[in-house]
Amino acid sequence: MTDTATAPLTFTVTRNLAAKSPAQRAEILENPGFGTNFTDHMVDICWSEHGGWHRPRVQPYGPISLDPAAAVLHYAQEIFEGIKAYRHADGSVHTFRPDRNAARMQASARRLALPELPTEYFVQSLRELIAVDGDWVPTAADQSLYLRPFMFAKEAFLGVRPAKKVAYYLIASPAGAYFKGGVKPVSIWLSENYARAGKGGTGAAKTGGNYASSLRPQAEAAEHGCDQVVFLDQDRNVEELGGMNVVFVYKDGRIVTPASDSILEGITRDSVLQLAEDRGHVVERRPVSLQEWRDGVASGDIVEVFACGTAAVVTPIGTLKGEGFEDVQPSGELALSLREELTDIQYGRREDRHGWLLRLDA
Ligand SMILES: *Cc1c(COP(=O)(O)O)cnc(C)c1O
Repeated sequence: MTDTATAPLTFTVTRNLAAKSPAQRAEILENPGFGTNFTDHMVDICWSEHGGWHRPRVQPYGPISLDPAAAVLHYAQEIFEGIKAYRHADGSVHTFRPDRNAARMQASARRLALPELPTEYFVQSLRELIAVDGDWVPTAADQSLYLRPFMFAKEAFLGVRPAKKVAYYLIASPAGAYFKGGVKPVSIWLSENYARAGKGGTGAAKTGGNYASSLRPQAEAAEHGCDQVVFLDQDRNVEELGGMNVVFVYKDGRIVTPASDSILEGITRDSVLQLAEDRGHVVERRPVSLQEWRDGVASGDIVEVFACGTAAVVTPIGTLKGEGFEDVQPSGELALSLREELTDIQYGRREDRHGWLLRLDA
């Protein structure tokens, strides 16, 4: 079903007459925060069982009108993606490995019984939005335009089956440097009472429901003074943070990251591990038990632990806290040096050896 040669869509563009002025935009970009300010436009494409993908539009950013019986509001048939646009020193705008996000959205769509958006349409939607809102891609160091593609069941029907009417949208939000004043290690709470996903569940799909179920454990983490929560799977193997993947660095240079079919496979993790392999590190993708983590830190075998994802890129883990224990995590240089190499590629400061960048504004 995926990626047969797909003719480009012709988008109808409706300009936002109430678009922010250059001065208003500049003021927002001075302190963009994360996920609170949005650009002037959004993209949407409709899908129906009989008509396939149709009515591609660029329109003013604004509320979506939905029937109260829209299936997504009742049964959470929804998926999303997260990808950034980066401004290079010459002013050009690039994104990072969009084919991977498109393929992951197709995989999420299969799990949630939604239609697969062809990769060409996915990439075209990014280009269409940048064509009208390119000025929203920040120029300041370490800032970016966070792009949020999402898809949901909009058919008005309370019966339980895959919806026959679906909408794909793309919105964008300028993002400031995630860590103001330098990267800080995060503290992690080990959730023993809650799981984010189960065997055969939706853990490997980027779907809102996984996030809904992580909110209560995240609140529990905050009650214990921790920034983030880490989840175990049913076999007490380390899964992920719920929005970031976990990576362990061993004394002998090996890098180990959990493999499990309930983990959302991050594109940041994949990229960082590729860069590490390029440097000669051996990378292992296999189950990692909580015991291996705690013993490895205690014995000094594990020399660094970090988390990665598009929003925060690479973040060292400073402590692991659980019911009755607190393990201070060792700190090293590798996480920050991989972070620097990756962001150098994304911002065009270093050669893109793997052909990961795609220019969006030309
Ligand atoms: C998006 C996401 C990640 C990180 O993926 P990236 O492609 O690196 O941004 C990790 N875990 C979950 C549950 C996610 O939704």
